[in-house]
Amino acid sequence: ILSNSFLSYCFYDFQIDKYLYSMRFSDETLKDIMNRFKREMENGLGRDTNPTATVKMLPTFVRSIPDGSEKGDFIALDLGGSNFRILRVKVTQDKKQPVQMESQVYETPEDIVHGSGTQLFDHVADCLGDFMEKQKIKDKKLPVGFTFSFPCAQTKLDEAVLVTWTKKFKASGVEGMDVVKLLNKAIKKRGDYEADIMAVVNDTTGTMMTCGFDDQRCEVGIIIGTGTNACYMEELRHIDLVEGDEGRMCINTEWGAFGDDGSLEDIRTEFDREIDRGSLNPGKQLFEKMASGMYMGELVRLILVKMAKEGLLFEGRITPELLTRGKIETKHVSAIEKTKEGLKKCMEILTRLGVEPSDEDCLAVQHVCTIVSFRSANLISATLGAILCRLKENKGVARLRTTVGIDGSLYKMHPQYARRLHKTVRRLVPDSDVRFLLSESGSAKGAAMVTAVAYRLTEQARQ
Ligand code: BGC
Ligand code: MG
Repeated sequence: ILSNSFLSYCFYDFQIDKYLYSMRFSDETLKDIMNRFKREMENGLGRDTNPTATVKMLPTFVRSIPDGSEKGDFIALDLGGSNFRILRVKVTQDKKQPVQMESQVYETPEDIVHGSGTQLFDHVADCLGDFMEKQKIKDKKLPVGFTFSFPCAQTKLDEAVLVTWTKKFKASGVEGMDVVKLLNKAIKKRGDYEADIMAVVNDTTGTMMTCGFDDQRCEVGIIIGTGTNACYMEELRHIDLVEGDEGRMCINTEWGAFGDDGSLEDIRTEFDREIDRGSLNPGKQLFEKMASGMYMGELVRLILVKMAKEGLLFEGRITPELLTRGKIETKHVSAIEKTKEGLKKCMEILTRLGVEPSDEDCLAVQHVCTIVSFRSANLISATLGAILCRLKENKGVARLRTTVGIDGSLYKMHPQYARRLHKTVRRLVPDSDVRFLLSESGSAKGAAMVTAVAYRLTEQARQ
């Protein structure tokens, strides 16, 4: 029996490797993608090339990582990740526990996320009111840091014009608007409390700042969750859109849009095209759709449907469940790839879809999951590799020593993802010592840090 299942295992692996050949990349291909992304970054930074660049390289007006002198009592809002959270962050000079946080998760129902912008910001203002009530701070006007996990054009810290919605959000009348103004309006309308929104921060920047608090070397932040994106510290002299040549500024790359101009067509598959056609934002965020958590389960499902139709799985059985969008989620992919109980989980998940899987089917489906999630880790290794190469060039060093702050549900929950990513990055950028630091407390803490710095500076200016 053992050797039998071993034989069929090899057989299935081989068959599926061949079947999904276009999802498996050689290092040569990955280096090619890395070079393409390097050029995209240059285009986004250059004055003449920026207007038509797909990777927008948005200046964040965050100029330094925390220096430890921050203190105060702050509110942090976190909208656009897998949860909408509100936090109270107290930063003190206490050596043992400099940061104290209390937080609450609020629902963001679909009718609000897809309704009008007014409804959305009214909801955010309502939740903030509820939170302040519970914290008994409704009579205070606390500084607020807003982690808003979407591409925004900023000309200062407390102004952020939404470029485009991504992921699951699509509220009308917000694109092209300053989200600080929209939120202030909603708070004023309620009239029962005040808030001072001091900074809008992308979740990548928040993650970099959170990790930067613990490791001063942290100069890259990445998110691999519902969506995917990265930020890093760029030399101001290379940022044409911002005055000044001294020092550095954090750039939000918005790498999710990589490929929106057709530059990844040679590696996109029929499954990627199908995902895109069925999405809220067709033609946009094409790299994100190949790599992030929001689409991974669905990619696997589309592959299984095609294989079943061709009689390669489930003896050709196709059920309404298998044909239903969203029935396989990324958390299922993570469960299926667990070393020990993965196959058992796979059996459970497929049984729920009614396809009456055999043991061989389970092995095959596990292998499909591996190929899809590995492709994601590979793609992100390539784009992250490009950022690391750029940092190395900027510093003019022979060997780069740096820390990358990371957050996101896919990276955190998938049993093999982190290890594969680290390994591939180190292979693609050999002359580097990269420390990957998981952001334990999320990006909102970082938003509070940015707010704390902004607060310190305005207080200093007032005196
Ligand atoms: C957004 C980014 C964000 C990322 C991770 C993407 O869809 O465009 O701004 O950082 O998701 O949340
Ligand atoms: Mg400049």
